[in-house]
Amino acid sequence: MRPRAVFEGVCPNCDGRISDVRLLMGIPCEKCLPMPDEELLKMLKGMSKEEIMSFCARKLEEQGNLKKYRELAELHVKLADFEDFFRRALGSPPWSAQRTWAKRALLGKSFAIIAPTGSGKTVFGAIMALYLASKGKKSYIILPTSLLVKQVYERLLSLAERSNSEARIACYHAMLSKKKAEEALKAISEGDFDVLVTTSFFLARRRELLSGLRFDFVFVDDVDAFLRSSKNVDLVLVLLGIPPEAVEKALELLRLKRELSRLLRSREARGEQLDALRERVAELEEELNAIRSKPDRGVLIVSGATIRAKRTRRIRLFRELLGFELGGRAEGLRNVENVFVSPENSVREEVLKLIKELGSGGLVFVPLDKGSAYAEELAEFLKQNGIRAEAFTRTRKKVVDAYVAGDLDVLVGVASFRSPLARGIDLPTRIRYAVFAGVPKLRINLSLAEFRPHRAIILLANLRDLLSGGEADRADAYIARIRHYSSLLRRDELREVVQALVEGRKLSGFLERVRGFFDEVWSFLRELLARPDVVQAIRESPHLSFDEREGEPFLLVPDPVGYLQASGRTSRLYAGGVSKGLSVLVIDDEKAFNGLVRALRWYAEDEEWRPLGDVDLRAVMAEVDRDRETIKRLLSGELTLELKDPMKTALLVVESPTKARTIARFFGRPTKREIGPITVFETSTGDFFLSVVASKGHVFDLVTRGGFHGVEVLDGHFIPIYGTIKRCRKCGEQYTDDLDLCPKCGSKLDDKAELLKALADVAKEVDVLLVGTDADAEGEKIGWDVAVFLAPYVREIRRVEFHEVTRRALMEALRNPREIDERLVEAQILRRVEDRWIGFELSQKLQSYFRKKTLSAGRVQTPVLRWIADRCRKWRRSLRDCFGLTLENGLKVVLRLPRMTAREVSDTIERLKGATCEVRRVEVEEVELAPPPPFTTDAMLREASRKLKMGAKQVMALAQELFETGLITYH
Ligand SMILES: [Zn+2]
Ligand SMILES: [Zn+2]
Repeated sequence: MRPRAVFEGVCPNCDGRISDVRLLMGIPCEKCLPMPDEELLKMLKGMSKEEIMSFCARKLEEQGNLKKYRELAELHVKLADFEDFFRRALGSPPWSAQRTWAKRALLGKSFAIIAPTGSGKTVFGAIMALYLASKGKKSYIILPTSLLVKQVYERLLSLAERSNSEARIACYHAMLSKKKAEEALKAISEGDFDVLVTTSFFLARRRELLSGLRFDFVFVDDVDAFLRSSKNVDLVLVLLGIPPEAVEKALELLRLKRELSRLLRSREARGEQLDALRERVAELEEELNAIRSKPDRGVLIVSGATIRAKRTRRIRLFRELLGFELGGRAEGLRNVENVFVSPENSVREEVLKLIKELGSGGLVFVPLDKGSAYAEELAEFLKQNGIRAEAFTRTRKKVVDAYVAGDLDVLVGVASFRSPLARGIDLPTRIRYAVFAGVPKLRINLSLAEFRPHRAIILLANLRDLLSGGEADRADAYIARIRHYSSLLRRDELREVVQALVEGRKLSGFLERVRGFFDEVWSFLRELLARPDVVQAIRESPHLSFDEREGEPFLLVPDPVGYLQASGRTSRLYAGGVSKGLSVLVIDDEKAFNGLVRALRWYAEDEEWRPLGDVDLRAVMAEVDRDRETIKRLLSGELTLELKDPMKTALLVVESPTKARTIARFFGRPTKREIGPITVFETSTGDFFLSVVASKGHVFDLVTRGGFHGVEVLDGHFIPIYGTIKRCRKCGEQYTDDLDLCPKCGSKLDDKAELLKALADVAKEVDVLLVGTDADAEGEKIGWDVAVFLAPYVREIRRVEFHEVTRRALMEALRNPREIDERLVEAQILRRVEDRWIGFELSQKLQSYFRKKTLSAGRVQTPVLRWIADRCRKWRRSLRDCFGLTLENGLKVVLRLPRMTAREVSDTIERLKGATCEVRRVEVEEVELAPPPPFTTDAMLREASRKLKMGAKQVMALAQELFETGLITYH
């Protein structure tokens, strides 16, 4: 097997030069392991990645040059040891995600697990604690309730028994007898235990008791409950061995960062003030970096199925001190059958009929514009007709308990983003379906007595379609700016602005700018709604309705967000995928329903609607119930994931950071981790636990020292030599050779080697590498570089290709991975070599001939220049002289004649003056013009230059941004 390329500085053992063949095998370079490739290939054939690793580690050890490879091999030994322990304790091996969590913990990394119901978070925490106890380490498991403490304690005992663990396990909860409680407190205060289990409330209450203790591992289950007391964050950090001074420093840093962004926003800050702040921030960040990199602190894992906690300053401490940030829930995922029906009699009769058919476990939603009173009324009606129903317009634990226990069949509440029934309830095994008694709608008061930014957005978005071009554009611009400003302001600042607006009071600085702008929007809206043509257009609109109550005008607009939120209760991400849900909408207002279906497309492109008559309800409910059963069995531990095909952990590498962020946001708010120079976004797609990162373009390029322009001849073959790209921070110049400072300006260089190191760190944790670089030759090469470099660190490599940054395209790509196209890679390698061999060499000739250092000739430009020169010559030969004649009857004619001398021209003019013409044929023709095809790159550049006067660079940057945010596509 002949190497296709050689890479400098990336041998997984010595950081030396290594061929792609060796990297793809997952073994060190020829210097480290001096055996012929063929021989190695034969020996390693059929071995698993783990076996190859231990083989190499053994060989290296024998030869006395086991270096960086040790860490990699050891991780696998440790993991195998843990897996073994896990299997003994539980009777089944850990699954993909649990393995990833274990690797991170074993590598000493703290992180957040936002994983769906039934993915085995708690059992993982428990087994890890017992495993660490067998290594003489101390762990602390923090749970939300006493009942859970009791359950997890009992689980720990049985796991310990099965794994022959002699761990001392202590627990404290409210259900202990007085004597047991005293014993527990004594053991805790003396540190006489290996694993401690308590509630988060205990941590807050008994902090003195814990203050002298240090833990190697802290596992927080249900992070939301834990964060109810924000002091818990500080406490836990200290328990992990982070000194209180560091916590103080981190808090100070957060305060300064906030101050800095405020100053920047206000545009009133003076230069020195800003510089001083920036300097202090940089100083603190450096100090904290030093603290973060100290090895002697414990590992923190916080976990939850969803995280709703507000991002307070204290939560940001996790980022500053432990390097991870909490995400939210996977909101983007749903598998809901959307069904609609027009009622035969009344809406409530139809709702009753549906509930009778679908049975227990339903949620009934009434439109927000009808309000809580209607929910109470409908619940009463259902009760009178034999349904065990209860209104749920505020959170009541008793009612939820009765519903969970099956003593209630349905709960009735309001369909809105804020409603407790649509938002506060998470019962994946109990909720089977949702019925909407009318289309979810918002009622917006048109008297506009007060200004609310989010209501202004809804109004503008709904009115824009009724307006003419210029006004519609204005509405769009207003929406964008309101969103922008709202995101910049704190909640209290926003309140102050709105208050000042109502009172007609002026503010100062940035707040005044916002107030002025809101005032402008407010007047715009008032003027619009006072215009008869707009009012007429609303009345005639197929989506909006007018309503008047007690003389006050209201606009009824469909509420897609409320619908998604409410119907989404019936479908949940769990360890086996996304559970099926059913949502039936009983139409009370045809107009509003059309509007809802249309508006939904903006939020969820895949949602489809079917009329009730076309749906086999029994089949849908069978699917619904099957998923509920699976989740129940997963939760009770009856079903192990081994039997199914659970989600895999994967690292997805794309080229641009914007694209990485956009992708991660398809599935709700992602969890973030900062590793070296890269940001890792974590999310679940239903099939994968995905870590998304960006390569930020190319990572390797041909070296310039050595060989002929970076290409060497080995055994009669050309082999390109690659080095990591180093980019000057100041002048932007790029290099590939080993340099400390920029030769041009003497500044520091950013080396892609740092990024690669971070990528390897993440790759070590996952099962699959998904190469998602752009779908062109350049993207294929970048992908190949990344894949070759990471091959020693992952089990499996797949190429995924998508042409647009949308959720649908991504899911499609993830389901249909392919191999890397080596012919495309070779084409790109050749292109780069030609750059150097042809372009560079020609440029030098050009420069010496014309004595001008700035001249350059490209590998493509040069032959193209020849074509242009040829065409130019041909064109010159084809030139003609033209004569424009106006005939007596007014007809205009152009005569084209071969080129002439000045003499001949004036002679011809003389001759033409007296000439006569004869019209022989007159034709009228009808031509059908096809619409223009989609833009090609050059056509787009031409048009943009002609119509918008934009330069090529600007247009390409814009197009790239539109593509990365998923708004346009290309092939
Ligand atoms: Zn080596
Ligand atoms: Zn420079």
